[in-house]
Amino acid sequence: MCIFSIEKIPVALSNFHKQALLAWSMIFKHSFSPTNYFIWNNKNICYKYESLFFENWFKNGINRVSQLFNQDGYLFTYQEFLSHYNIPVTPKQFAIVFGAIPNGVIMLFKGCNSFLSSSEIPLPDPADTYVGRICFKSTVKNNREICFLFLHDWVSTPHVVSRWNNLVENILWKKVWTFPNKYLLVNKVKEISFKLIHRYYPVKTFIVSKLKLSIDVNCTFCDSQPETLLHLFWYCDHTRKLWQDICQFIVDYIYKDFELYFKDVLLGFVIFEKQHENLFFPIILLAKYFIHKCKTMKVTSHSSHFQEDVKIYINSLSTS
Ligand SMILES: [Zn+2]
Repeated sequence: MCIFSIEKIPVALSNFHKQALLAWSMIFKHSFSPTNYFIWNNKNICYKYESLFFENWFKNGINRVSQLFNQDGYLFTYQEFLSHYNIPVTPKQFAIVFGAIPNGVIMLFKGCNSFLSSSEIPLPDPADTYVGRICFKSTVKNNREICFLFLHDWVSTPHVVSRWNNLVENILWKKVWTFPNKYLLVNKVKEISFKLIHRYYPVKTFIVSKLKLSIDVNCTFCDSQPETLLHLFWYCDHTRKLWQDICQFIVDYIYKDFELYFKDVLLGFVIFEKQHENLFFPIILLAKYFIHKCKTMKVTSHSSHFQEDVKIYINSLSTS
């Protein structure tokens, strides 16, 4: 059924049947609801570490946990259960099933008979489920999507990925996500970069559009242009001067062909020879944090102050 665990099912299964059950579990993976929470072969409803299955209950249509509750949202007593279903159930079976219902599920039903009144909602047609549509109805067989279903954890891709992919070619996303953690940078530095990539850094235009506040949207630094993400972190004269000074420093001391574009600032790294990667990357992240800090303090960004930040960072590494 919906959330069984193959290891906990109280029968020995061949590999073929294990595979068949696994595929079946995929279909109902996202269909949890109190009304469709099954008693049988549910990995969370166990007796002596094994999930349950009583054929006589099953054949009499008792399959869902919601059927074990009375109209007031409380578990049936033994007498209530017998008179309600009128089927022969031993006190031992009753105690096993009712004792196995997790407290959390009991809490979910407590005093809420809206779930109970709708307990006869039929199961969805497998072909209409998310998995069913991919496997049975798709006109183009997408092996990657089918393969993806069998991964243990679902991974959702942030919507910004496709957005930036449309604007910038060949983004190495793995590096974008993992590089900030490769360096000894404190979280507040990494956080700014993360917010920029996800487009929820609170520049003034963002605050106005999302929070509907009526505030002055002009740039904190120059006060002459609307404060957009692109303006604050790239086009503003004050910010540009900072990036120019950083580039000049890198050209003079590290890599003479260094060039910097907004995509590099946004995503946090520049693709050049690998030996320089370790230097560019933290500098770009620190610079973005520095811009943020200046905005918060309402002071214009000045490269001499940024140099101090970089020195502090380098000193912090010296003992590592
Ligand atoms: Zn500005």
